[in-house]
Amino acid sequence: MSASKPILRTKILDQPVRIYRRYTREVRRRGATLGHVKIWGRDRSGERKWIVDLSPDLQDGSLEELITVIHELMHVADWGRDEIHIDRSSEDIARTLWRLGYRKSSQDATDGGH
Ligand SMILES: [Zn+2]
Repeated sequence: MSASKPILRTKILDQPVRIYRRYTREVRRRGATLGHVKIWGRDRSGERKWIVDLSPDLQDGSLEELITVIHELMHVADWGRDEIHIDRSSEDIARTLWRLGYRKSSQDATDGGH
C-alpha cells in the first residue's frame, strides 16, 4: 500500500501534502470516517509533511468527497483546531461551493502547479 502513488501532491501553507485514495489502518479503524490525515515527517525547513488518505468508498466527484477533502486540508492548515469547528466549516464551505456549481471535472488531477 505504501508504494501506491498519490492522486495529488500539493501544498497547504507551504507544507507538502500527498493525497491518496486508499484504505489505511487508520481509515479502516475509524469505520465511518471517510478520510484521515496524518503528519508523516518534516521537510528541510522543518515544515510538516502530510498524508491525506481518502476512503475509496467515497464516490468520485460527490459532495461528500468535496466535504472530506476540505475537512482534511483544514486540519493541515490549522492543526489543533477542534473537530467540531473543522466539521462544521468544511461542510458549510463545501455546500456553498456546491451550490455555486463547482463540480469535479472528468480531467485527471495533475501534479501541475507545485
Ligand atoms: Zn477531522
